[in-house]
Amino acid sequence: MTQLSPSAAAHTAVPFHRPDVTDQDIAAVVKCLRSGWLTTGPIVAAFEKAVAAYAGVAEAVAVDSGTAALELALHALGIGPGDEVITTPYSFVASVEAIRTVGAKPRLVDVESSTGNIDPQAARQAIGPATRAVLPVHIGGHPCAMVELTSLCKEHDLLMVSDAAHALETHSGTQHVGAQGNATAFSFYANKNITSAEGGMITTDDRELAQRMRRLRLHGLSTDAWQRAGSIGPAQYDIPEPGIKANMSDLSASLGLSQFERIEASLRRRHNIVRRYQAAFADQPLIQCPPELAEGQHAWHLYSILWNEKRSGIQRNAVRQLLADRGISTSMHFHPIHLFKCYARALGHEMGDFPVAEERARRAISLPLYPGMSEEEVSAVIDALSSIAKGKLQ
Ligand SMILES: *Cc1c(COP(=O)(O)O)cnc(C)c1O
Repeated sequence: MTQLSPSAAAHTAVPFHRPDVTDQDIAAVVKCLRSGWLTTGPIVAAFEKAVAAYAGVAEAVAVDSGTAALELALHALGIGPGDEVITTPYSFVASVEAIRTVGAKPRLVDVESSTGNIDPQAARQAIGPATRAVLPVHIGGHPCAMVELTSLCKEHDLLMVSDAAHALETHSGTQHVGAQGNATAFSFYANKNITSAEGGMITTDDRELAQRMRRLRLHGLSTDAWQRAGSIGPAQYDIPEPGIKANMSDLSASLGLSQFERIEASLRRRHNIVRRYQAAFADQPLIQCPPELAEGQHAWHLYSILWNEKRSGIQRNAVRQLLADRGISTSMHFHPIHLFKCYARALGHEMGDFPVAEERARRAISLPLYPGMSEEEVSAVIDALSSIAKGKLQ
């Protein structure tokens, strides 16, 4: 059992995340368990259809993780050895790892300081003869500069695969991010906006690409087990090209689809929490709030403030410790990928190469943000951070 420190015990303890699992979710999973079909089948197909309609695209292809979604999209678009893909070091490692897994080279560029998203100017300057694609990451659910990035890709004949692991509800302008670029990858990992425990999906308007990804996610088989189970008599399949094993199970999809049905309510609740945070921290000189969107829709997966170390004389980690002492669990996003040992070595990077990403990584504190938070819990977070910030103001 973990011991609460005396000061934490006296306060409301707020975990960084609590999965939102309802009785309806549990009933949906139990129904799948009792159905006699556990792996890829009708529930995966229904989940794909729901997400495709939501994003306003022709196709959605379900896989077993967001990482696999990125890998499959890159590979199915023909990106591999000899190719470079432009992306940023300010992300979860999966976005760079996926480029490496398909055999291509990640070409890292720095981010915009306000959002942590790829800087389109930096991306433009990084284009070289081997560049094949741009892989923007919609950090925290804030859309990347898609107008600039789309025209950049058009001008230079580059593909675009977006990492929308945080951005299931994100609209850039009037368009869902799942309808932009060649393919968009989503994650349904346990702490994402909706979860299937583990899972991911790729949206695209390219039907041929979708068909190829459906084959490749299951060893390259021309028909899957559900299709074969539905046929009468001996069923044949061939393998036109080798694939991987990354299909989503109906068991996972039953949780994901059930969660998907609450997507609007969950987003509204997170928006309300964000509104309270923004109002509470707007006038605090030591706290830089995340920017809001002038148009489009923010998915608010993360609420990350930037702590003013210089003016407060205290570092971010010390602030996180003070919050923990008051029972508030926080997180930090992200450890810059170019500074992880193996990527620093493989890509030849060192501290100082991407100063904006590094500064954000040093100053960011992500606060709890999930639909199950009570008003009291939101107040506890606000009170704790506000009192620390006021106490450190010199
Ligand atoms: C979670 C995440 C992923 C990977 O998703 P998984 O489903 O865990 O494989 C990729 N990119 C970003 C930015 C993420 O946060």
